[in-house]
Amino acid sequence: MSRGAPRTARRTVLTAARVLPGPAGEVIHDGAVLVEDTVIRAVGPRSEVDALAGPDAERSGHPDGTILPGLVDGHVHLAFDAGPDPVATLAATGDDELYRAMAGRAAQLLASGVTTVRDLGDRGGLAGRLRDAVAAGRAVGPRILSAGAPLTPPGGHCWFFGGEAQGGAQIRDVVRRNLRLGADLIKVMATGGHLTAGGASMWESQYDVPDLALVVEEAHRAGRRVAAHAHGTDGVRAAVAAGVDTVEHCTLANADGFDAPDELARELARKGIAVCTAISADWRNYAAKYGDRITGRLLGRIGWLEERGVRLVAGTDAGIPGAPFDDFVGSLELFEHLGFTPSRTIELATVDTAAALGLAERTGRIAPGLDADLLVVAGDPTRSVAALRDIELVVTRGTPHRPRSVPPQDAADQSRPRARNSSAVAAVEVRSAVVSSTSR
Ligand SMILES: [Zn+2]
Repeated sequence: MSRGAPRTARRTVLTAARVLPGPAGEVIHDGAVLVEDTVIRAVGPRSEVDALAGPDAERSGHPDGTILPGLVDGHVHLAFDAGPDPVATLAATGDDELYRAMAGRAAQLLASGVTTVRDLGDRGGLAGRLRDAVAAGRAVGPRILSAGAPLTPPGGHCWFFGGEAQGGAQIRDVVRRNLRLGADLIKVMATGGHLTAGGASMWESQYDVPDLALVVEEAHRAGRRVAAHAHGTDGVRAAVAAGVDTVEHCTLANADGFDAPDELARELARKGIAVCTAISADWRNYAAKYGDRITGRLLGRIGWLEERGVRLVAGTDAGIPGAPFDDFVGSLELFEHLGFTPSRTIELATVDTAAALGLAERTGRIAPGLDADLLVVAGDPTRSVAALRDIELVVTRGTPHRPRSVPPQDAADQSRPRARNSSAVAAVEVRSAVVSSTSR
């Protein structure tokens, strides 16, 4: 830290037709946000915030636009390429190339308005390395929470990430190893899943309650949360009994179909365990893929959980087949399709998801003292979340980024198949690097 003249804080006032602080229904018309270095100093009516900012502050005006908290995607896999066989691609990709691809995907997420992600499974600690690079200003992307290698039995769901563990001693060892390597949370595969050939079926449990309780005990002792991947009803029930913090997928499947266990939903709600259904924009293709009956059940349970008071988390599972890194809004449109209001959907993708990730005091709302993670869009997303696609500015910890469309060949993610879809791949341009050496 150099000892020169006292550093003057960089102050920026963002103004817009409306500011959404986060909670559903709260709107500040003709509002403003004062950002000082990396944090939010004030939010409120434009006249008041402007007066507080003083004449020297920079100004960023969006007279028809909306300022809202940066979006939080609670379930991504930066190590997967969203192609038809991400597991094979991963196996064929070396660490250096994989890291570059992951950095490109992080940039795509940021360009689509996402300022925080929770990565729920990667190889070799690369997501943690990228997290640190973003935090230090060496890479452009959202804040990353990384789970490292998920716990799974030998040969079990996603064993190839490197987190195989069976029995108490191994489970304890792998949790502690992940924590030593800097994991922000622990992920455990309570049931099988789709991606892994030869592993347990998605409705079959991989661990019992004592196993899962040991994971929770070890993680909580270190102040870390536990995310349990669980499709099967039995696995969800075991994860809830063990006291995990979030349940991923929560498909509530059995060998013959689906369950609707009221008592389990009530227990999720009572314990405050959040559920991330982790469904991408691909939901629009479900009826063609799975038929109407299964689709109705897969998607209908989201409203069913909300009605029972279960905390919901927004997430895309970005990286698995059909789940891209540049369309979080397409995933949020599912909630709108299910009857959630746009305001409730925005609250879910900001306030609620940040809180479920343990970041309520850092991000997810526009309030004094929180990190300046902001999204500025041209229109009014309280009418339709589709307006979240028309991005004017993304701010991460005070650093502004202006998304612009570029031809796919310029995209940072070189591993992405060319012309996979016709829309131009968005990239971000760092307008000015203001992550100063004094920021935390
Ligand atoms: Zn996943």
